[in-house]
Amino acid sequence: MPEGLEAEIWRSEIETVVGRTVVDAWVDERVAPPGFVGLVVGARLEGVRRAGKIVLIDTDGPTIGLHFGMTGRVLVDGVSAIDRLQYSSSRDDAQWDRLRLFTDAAGMPAVRLNDPRRLGRVTLDPDVSALGVDIFAVTPARMRRALGERRQAIKTVLLDQAVVAGLGNMCADEVLWWAGIDPRRPACALDEPDVARLATAIRRRLPVMMRRGGSHRGTLSPMVRSTCPPCERDGYPLRRDTIGGRTAVWCPHHQR
Ligand SMILES: [Zn+2]
Repeated sequence: MPEGLEAEIWRSEIETVVGRTVVDAWVDERVAPPGFVGLVVGARLEGVRRAGKIVLIDTDGPTIGLHFGMTGRVLVDGVSAIDRLQYSSSRDDAQWDRLRLFTDAAGMPAVRLNDPRRLGRVTLDPDVSALGVDIFAVTPARMRRALGERRQAIKTVLLDQAVVAGLGNMCADEVLWWAGIDPRRPACALDEPDVARLATAIRRRLPVMMRRGGSHRGTLSPMVRSTCPPCERDGYPLRRDTIGGRTAVWCPHHQR
């Protein structure tokens, strides 16, 4: 599913339409607040930000929030920045559209949110104040403060958007693998070197994955996750467990 990395890729794409004015809009009313269209038509797109996994389009009226759920994706001027999503169909079916913002009455939508499973949503002026430290702003000190005295498994804590905003299941497994940390360890049991390695893995690996195309481009790729081959680092078989209700793939040899 889309994580902060995908949201960042889409945020960057949407930059290209900043400065335009919304002349028409359509929304799937099942996933948007009442009166949405009336509030955004006529608005000028003034900027685009990301908060964790959410893309925020600022206008001279409300801020439009794009939430991607399990299968959401964005097309800007008809182009998808992420062509084939591992977690979603590559088919481009207009019946899966949840939002269309037009900046040219005769043209294609400038921004389309397409979401086959319809678990994403569109919001106005979303409150993002409860989000934790952003994936691209992690430092060892911020990480330590964010983890606090939490006793849950570190993997589960990393998925809590109030702790680190933007990490999803694949990236959390990936950074724990790089940091050599057992995903089942209580977060509060991590010592200073553990926290430093984890923060470093987040800072170094996520930009690499983003440049390669997104959260599915790590060492623990979807293929590795489904087949659990020997660990690339030490040759021991990877393991697949359920931790906090989510699938975790990890190496019981070097992740301690
Ligand atoms: Zn290993």
